[in-house]
Amino acid sequence: MSLYVDWGLRPIINASGAVTRLGGAPMPPAVLDAFCAAAQECAPLDVLQGLASREIATHTGAEAGCITSGAAAGLLLGTAAILTGNDLGRMERLPNCTGFPDEFVIAREHRNGYDHAVRAAGARLVEVGFHEPISGAGVRRVEAWEYAAACGPQTAGIFYVYQASSHPPLREVVAVAHEKGLPVLVDAAGQLPPRSNLRDILETGADLVCFSGGKAIRGPQATGLLCGRRDLVSAAAMQMLDMDDYFELWDPPLELIDKTQFRGLPRHGIGRSLKVSKEQIMAVLTALRLFASGAYDAELVFHERRLQQIATRLAGLPVGCRLVKSADSQSLPTLEITLDEVALGRSAFDICRSLRNGNPSVYVGHWGLEHCQLIVNPLHISDKNAVLLATRLVEELQSECSDPR
Ligand SMILES: *Cc1c(COP(=O)(O)O)cnc(C)c1O
Repeated sequence: MSLYVDWGLRPIINASGAVTRLGGAPMPPAVLDAFCAAAQECAPLDVLQGLASREIATHTGAEAGCITSGAAAGLLLGTAAILTGNDLGRMERLPNCTGFPDEFVIAREHRNGYDHAVRAAGARLVEVGFHEPISGAGVRRVEAWEYAAACGPQTAGIFYVYQASSHPPLREVVAVAHEKGLPVLVDAAGQLPPRSNLRDILETGADLVCFSGGKAIRGPQATGLLCGRRDLVSAAAMQMLDMDDYFELWDPPLELIDKTQFRGLPRHGIGRSLKVSKEQIMAVLTALRLFASGAYDAELVFHERRLQQIATRLAGLPVGCRLVKSADSQSLPTLEITLDEVALGRSAFDICRSLRNGNPSVYVGHWGLEHCQLIVNPLHISDKNAVLLATRLVEELQSECSDPR
């Protein structure tokens, strides 16, 4: 039984993990149940976002939070909140920022395709620093003083893309920003696990942090968390929520929006195009509880066993297999398959393409191809899929000399 087959499509074997292009993470049964149950009754979205704010605060230590339609949506909303604060006129004008500060300082080495979301809100990015070890021109990366030197009257905030290896450390950038009275917006979309990052990143003093709900948390793919300062989360929620009501009747939950701060009800804001549904909110909150409780850790041992079984099937072929385990005992293990391209007479790219085009279609992780590696992430791999996947790998990885038939 397959919905996709019924509709004339072929489902794939996803050996790449929770990547967006292939549909995100598998939702656990409790998350799917929450999605369906939420669909059967109605509740006002602002009330649900108030609930979300309390739940997110519990797990992150943030003052407030809201559910967004992804981490990238959180970046757009967080940027909008920093640009406008509670100013209804500014909310109305975005992405036009004429007349108020609109620059976000970012390290050149933090620039990436997702910063389109920050620019889409109306912000202009001001780049600082170099990554001279990468260009081969020196030893230093971007430094905190360079952020300070770039801040001026047009600066609205600082945008920081977080990884454990990000430089300079977030704490130093927050110190510079707060010295200047500026907020820091952090993209931490894929920085879970470790679970401790739910708290540790905010604990640096960062003002707003975005996480994906559809990656390690395993909520619906188009969900995310935006958490941090209450006034900023409030301004973000104001610009996402549907505003078709009378001011006199409007009764938003106080933990999210303090109505007394406003003289009227704004029209739909720049984030109205990024709306989330009641089903998405309840499903991702359920997933967040599971993730934060460590419920997913018990699967690691099964994933490891499946990867080992696949590695065993590849023994004797012109490849090297390495099981890569995480140090935090929370992240999934992966199988790194390094190809002997000469013995195989084929490139890793060629084999990756054949796997995608074969039957069943298999998508392995493609981030090691330039180092002749295929990467297997087991998140979506069931026992049955593991056998099919191993068979397809063996078919593709038999070199002419290792297969004399
Ligand atoms: C995945 C990712 C995003 C986008 O997250 P969505 O939840 O898919 O919107 C943004 N930034 C980084 C660094 C990511 O890895």
